[in-house]
Amino acid sequence: MFSEKVVDVGGVKIGGKYPIVIQSMTNTDTANIEQTLFQVERLKNSGAQIVRVSVRSKDDIQPFGEIVKKSQVPLVADIHFDYRLAIESIKAGASKVRINPGNIGSDVKIREIVKVAKEYNVPIRVGSNSGSIAKEFSDLPRHKALAESALKEVRLLEKEGFYDIVVSVKSVDAKETFVANQYLSRLIPYPFHIGVTEAGVFEDAVILSSAGLGSLLINDIGDTIRISISGDPIREVELAKDLLIALGLKIGVRVIACPTCARTEIDVEGLAYEVKKMLKGKEVKKNITVAVMGCVVNGPGEAKHSDIAIVGTKNSSAAIFLKGELFGTFKRSEIREKLFEIIEEIQNS
Ligand code: SF4
Repeated sequence: MFSEKVVDVGGVKIGGKYPIVIQSMTNTDTANIEQTLFQVERLKNSGAQIVRVSVRSKDDIQPFGEIVKKSQVPLVADIHFDYRLAIESIKAGASKVRINPGNIGSDVKIREIVKVAKEYNVPIRVGSNSGSIAKEFSDLPRHKALAESALKEVRLLEKEGFYDIVVSVKSVDAKETFVANQYLSRLIPYPFHIGVTEAGVFEDAVILSSAGLGSLLINDIGDTIRISISGDPIREVELAKDLLIALGLKIGVRVIACPTCARTEIDVEGLAYEVKKMLKGKEVKKNITVAVMGCVVNGPGEAKHSDIAIVGTKNSSAAIFLKGELFGTFKRSEIREKLFEIIEEIQNS
């Protein structure tokens, strides 16, 4: 969204004024075409616009090619060590390759990859993470070492006359991720792939990613986002979507809820979860904020800035306010239907 340059990944634009692209990575065995394709499809249906697949050895090339042919989203080949795998992946239909020049080895091998990438118009992602800092920068403060390592890789591609670049700098630490990306973004015009690496299991990943990526996005840094969570990658996509919606960088439904207090008349937490569940993944054309508030004393006032407020009233009923104006009072069992009706109306207005 914020870089000077734009790259095209199989028709998906990354960078410039384009919306931030959500991506994830398969964790199935690439050689298992059916399983991997199924996961690619699930990722796509959850909101991933680009999916990365590991190509580990030459045995993965043929299956990768098959997966590319049937995939409905552009695929990125993730390559380590063997430059020939990058070349073969491009020829098999990869829309982008992610390489680590540090483990590819010589400049000659990089040159070979660049030659084919140019021929096929395929962008290359390079960059660094906590585990791939170049030796010559190991004495620098870590954020600088990460940024300089990535910059070195960018310069290597530029030296070969290659500018179709996406760059990433990932740390396991949220602040380090922020500072390193901020430092590097001032030096190069290429789109940034942002992520906190090895962010851990779900709860930890939510905190680290919100802190590290949220701070970058608020500062207009980041063009494509991959959230790292151990386990099912679908959750990476869902969390990326929620983060972008929460920051106003993606159109969607936001559910806010009061913290509850002694005045609470309804089960705010339960209802908020219910509303979230109802609206999960709902594609909307306009941003909508739904507030779930516990009482009529402060509820309507506190929810004035929301499009829809569901406010607890006596006898487990709830009043619905639209932009702060009373719309009506309903039984809990009627809320779902009313909410959908109102959302449809807002979308069509
Ligand atoms: S909306 Fe009502 S119940 Fe919720 S925190 Fe405010 S005063 Fe308490």
